[in-house]
Parts: sequence; structure tokens; C-alpha cells
Amino acid sequence: MGCGSSSTRRIMMSEPDCLFCKIIAGEIPSEKVYEDETTYAFKDISPKAAVHVLVVPKHHYANVAELAGADAAQLAHMVQVAQSLADDAFHGAYRLIFNTGRDAGQSVFHVHAHVLTGETLDE
Ligand code: IMP
Repeated sequence: MGCGSSSTRRIMMSEPDCLFCKIIAGEIPSEKVYEDETTYAFKDISPKAAVHVLVVPKHHYANVAELAGADAAQLAHMVQVAQSLADDAFHGAYRLIFNTGRDAGQSVFHVHAHVLTGETLDE
């Protein structure tokens, strides 16, 4: 499978025990809201806002720093997907969160952008 978000085509890597790799592969059900060649977005199972979507690269990276170092274009594309979702949901207003590290609240070690939108958010 190829990767369309960067100039070089690459092999998508998945991790056998990764929850989000299984969701991307369709082995675990999810409520998909967006998909393209490199990127998948689905509703968070425990929403913290009226619209709470997780945007993930199909390629497995543990966290946002690893992704940024390996494929900055993919990271930029995820931001564009988030923007587009928020354009549709709430006139382009949204909060974008990458929890990084267990002590910061990261519980799934496949990088994901939390997109919170759809309503006015508390500060
Ligand atoms: P983290 O805590 O930043 O790693 O975010 C992981 C997110 O994944 C949490 O907000 C969970 O609610 C969400 N989550 C866990 N399992 C599932 C699932 O099966 N479907 C959708 N979201 C999930």
C-alpha cells in the first residue's frame, strides 16, 4: 500500500498488538468519519466534546514526536484533516491535542490527534 501524503512512497507499517492498527485494518469496529490513502479518522468512544474525533496515520508511529521526525508531511496532513472536520462541524473552531507519554495521559501508543469541536469549549 502506498502513502500519498509525502513525495516518497512508503510501506505502511502496523503493530500486531496496537488497538488503532486493528481499527484501521477493520478488525475492530469504529465510527469512521474520514479516510484517505494515509489517514483515518473516527469518533472517540468516550467523547469529551460534542464532536470528538481521533485522526490517525495508517502507518504506526508511537507518538507525535516520532511522527514529526519521520514524516512531517503526514503530520501536516492530519492538521488539514482536523481543520476540514471542524470547518464542517463548528465554523473552523477546534482544539487539537496530542497526549504524549503515559504521564501526560497517552493510553494508546499509536499517534492520534484528538479533535474537539462542535460546541464552545471551556478554557
Ligand atoms: P489517549 O488517552 O490520548 O491515548 O487517547 C486514546 C483515546 O482513545 C481515548 O480518548 C479513548 O476514549 C479512545 N479509545 C479507546 N478505545 C477506543 C475505541 O475502540 N474506539 C474509539 N476510541 C477509543
